[in-house]
Formats: sequence, structure tokens, C-alpha cells
Amino acid sequence: MSVCDEVYAKVVEKHPGQPEFHQAVKEVLESLKLTEAKRPDYVKYKVYERIVEPDRAIIFRVPWVDDKGEVQINRGYRVQFNNAIGPYKGGLRFHPSVNLGIIKFLGFEQIFKNSLTTLPMGGAKGGSDFDPKGKSDMEVMRFCQAFMRELFRHIGPDTDVPAGDIGVGAREIGYMYGYYKKLVNEHTGVLTGKGLEYGGSLIRPEATGYGSTYFAAEMLATRGKEIKGLVAAVSGSGNVAQYTVEKVNQLGGKVITLSDSNGTVVDEKGIDAKKLAWVMELKNVRRGRIEEYAKEFNVAYYAGKSVWEVITEQGIRIDLAFPSAHENEIDGKTASGLVKNGCFLVSEGANMPSTPEAQDIFLDNNVLYGPAKAANAGGVATSGLEMSQNSLRLSWDREEVDMRLQKIMKAIHKNALDAAAAYGHPGNYIVGANLAGFIKVANVMVANGVV
Ligand code: NDP
Repeated sequence: MSVCDEVYAKVVEKHPGQPEFHQAVKEVLESLKLTEAKRPDYVKYKVYERIVEPDRAIIFRVPWVDDKGEVQINRGYRVQFNNAIGPYKGGLRFHPSVNLGIIKFLGFEQIFKNSLTTLPMGGAKGGSDFDPKGKSDMEVMRFCQAFMRELFRHIGPDTDVPAGDIGVGAREIGYMYGYYKKLVNEHTGVLTGKGLEYGGSLIRPEATGYGSTYFAAEMLATRGKEIKGLVAAVSGSGNVAQYTVEKVNQLGGKVITLSDSNGTVVDEKGIDAKKLAWVMELKNVRRGRIEEYAKEFNVAYYAGKSVWEVITEQGIRIDLAFPSAHENEIDGKTASGLVKNGCFLVSEGANMPSTPEAQDIFLDNNVLYGPAKAANAGGVATSGLEMSQNSLRLSWDREEVDMRLQKIMKAIHKNALDAAAAYGHPGNYIVGANLAGFIKVANVMVANGVV
């Protein structure tokens, strides 16, 4: 049994009932096995054992009062996983499905993703089982304040810098930042994704979607292709999905799907800039459901179906897939459906959206498969750029940030490809991203001793 197999067996035993965490750890350790023989120092310093154990996991009560005057109790989490190469960094997710296992899977992935960005950021993640959907702005504000009332003592610009994720956008970051400032009496870069007027970075809202599209363009270039003229499916209709549509359009592609947790719309004519502006108003201002798009633009709506089910069941031809909603949204069956319907590239905007079976199907069918920790790293990379601007106390213009983002996405792509080739798996971005992300962190864990 390899060391990594033993480590995985212990993880399953020590962290019961956390299948998403097990899934993320298994995928990474499968790749890390390739380093065992070459790097006896990693074995000696027990780097594999240490990297799967969070530095600390904070769980706290979040009591708040709703509009009816009733007391509500939610649970808050912050898992600070690894700070070998920089302060902890990773988003906050507000969604009823949030539990410790989900936050640990996201925090673990964040270690390697942040390392891949080439910027000095450690890995963390946090959130709550609070559901912002259907809540008034005042309820969301009171919740955010209650959440920060505990979180503030664990974070700081040089300690841990949270950001947004599912259910945490500009509104929530604004409320949390305001309350942090009130508690600590400091105007510092303790959160990213801030509004432009109080320390945010241009391109940060766009960065994850733009980044996963840039990553797709890099993968296509290895086969002498470009996005222009290709048909894409995007899932979700939140932050990542919206800016993926925008960038695919700008690069001359056509996006024909969007979804939310209630269903999927298919617009064969393409979701152009005008329709996208309508979606942004629907989702970011009115906070409505994607079903309304079908009524507004007279297109098909599939209630209760994911984008991937609709493509599979309706036999809709696509070239590119950008899963941008949530984990495990593409399973083996829908992965086969995608391949059957012409899809030859998957660039993951969401975190871990493909099950292990789906990943195998993509690799077996020579699909250009960009795993989340590489393809969606543009978001946290631009958060890193926001931190740099906050430290410098200046703001770069749009072009400067976008140029840096593109440079970073190119570097991630190249580093992943190089690592995959160096370890005998040319073209395999899963192996490449895991190894390129890991080696930098592991070297520091050896250099810094057993801490
Ligand atoms: P948003 O909250 O802005 O949007 C999430 C979208 O996904 C919504 O359309 C939502 O629908 C849908 N969705 C969420 N959960 C489910 C579910 N269980 N079933 C069906 N649909 C669902 O989040 P983001 O766009 O920020 O995040 C999307 C993904 O991208 C997540 O995996 C996140 O971790 C990842 N990511 C985000 C980054 C960022 O910068 N924001 C950075 C890197 C990764 P509904 O409104 O109905 O819930």
C-alpha cells in the first residue's frame, strides 16, 4: 500500500460522514502518489498526512432576529486549512447545504488552487447554513453582522482574508465589511470582493467567469482551436455563470443555456449581451428565478432539470461546457451525454462539479478537461490582486487587472501541463494541477519544519 493510500484510509476513518471531503482528498492523493518515490523528504516529514488535516476548524453559533422579531439560529464555519505559502484565503458560502464536510472539501481544494495562482495565499473556506434566498435586505444584514460578530476575531489582513462564494456577493461582503470595521476600528483589506468605493478591485466580480473562459481558450489553443464560432453550455446563473457568458460572447462564442436550482433554460439563438444584462438585473437586483427568462424571451424551460440532464435527454449539440453552479452537478450519465452530443471541452467554473465517474469519462474520451482548481482560480487570483492593491493603497485600472488575470491563467495552464508531462501524464490537467499546486506548498512545509 502506498503512503497516500494509507493516508486516504485514515482520512475516511477520522472524518466520517463527509463524502465531499473524502472525494476531494482521494482525487488529490491519487496524483500525489506520483511524488512518493521522487521525494522521500515528503514522506519523512509526513507532508501527506499533514496536508489533509486542517490547521484549525472553527464552528460557531450565529443568532439573529428576523423581520417578525423571532430569534433564528444558524451555524457558522471557518476552516483554516494551510498557511504554508501565505495568509489563509478562501470564500464564504451561505447555503442551506453547508456543513463541516463541504467547507473542508472547499478549504482543502483552496490550498492547491491558491498555490497555482503563483500568488502567496494559503487555503481556507467558511460559511453558514443560512439561506439568503427569500430574506429581506435587513434580514441578510442582521445575519451578516451576527456572523461577523464571531468571525472577526479569527481573521485579519495578514492572518485570513475571506471572500464570496455561493450566496455571498457584493451585498453580503458590504454588510460584513461594514461590521468588521465597526468592531475592529480599522479600514484594512480583511475581505476581498469589496465594493470599488471602499477598496475593491476592478474585474474581481468578473474574474472567476473570465478566468475559466481564458483557461478554456488556453486548452483549445493546444489543439489549434479558438472559442470563436463554438457553442457553449453554462450552468448556474450567479456570479460565475454571468461573467462566463459575457467573456464567451466577447470571444465570439455562443452560450445557449443557463440554470438555477429550479430548472434550466435553453436559448438556441444565444444569450447575447442584451439578454445577459436582463439576467443580471433578474438575478442580482430582483433576485428572481431563471424560469422568467423563458417567458421573457419565449424559449424552452425544463423545470427540475440540470443543464447536463437537458443536453443529455434532448440531444442538444454543444462544443464547450462550463459547469458554474455547484459540486457534483455532472455525473457519469450526463458526462456520457455531453460527449455523445459533441462536447470536447469542459472548463470548471464551479468547485468539483464533476463526479469521479464523470472525470474518467472525459479523460477516456480525450475531452479537454480543466479541473476546478486550475480553471476557476482566476477568482481567488484577482482577490490576491485586490489584497496587493489594498496593501499598496492604490487601484489599478481595468486593463491592468485584466492583463494580470490573463497572465496568471496562462501561467496556471502552462504549469499544470508541464507538471503533468514531467510526471508521465501529458495532457492530464487533473494530475498537472494537483502536482503543480502541491509541490510548492510541500516544499515550504518541509523547509518550515514540523509545525
Ligand atoms: P452564486 O450564488 O452567485 O450562484 C450560484 C448559482 O448556482 C445559482 O444560479 C444557484 O441557483 C445555482 N446553484 C447553487 N446550488 C445549487 C444546487 N444545489 N442545485 C442547483 N443549482 C444550484 O455563486 P457563484 O456563482 O459565486 O458560485 C458558483 C460556483 O462557483 C460554486 O461552486 C463556487 O464554489 C464556485 N466558485 C466561485 C467563485 C467566485 O468567485 N464567486 C470562485 C471560485 C469558484 P439558485 O439561485 O437557485 O440557488
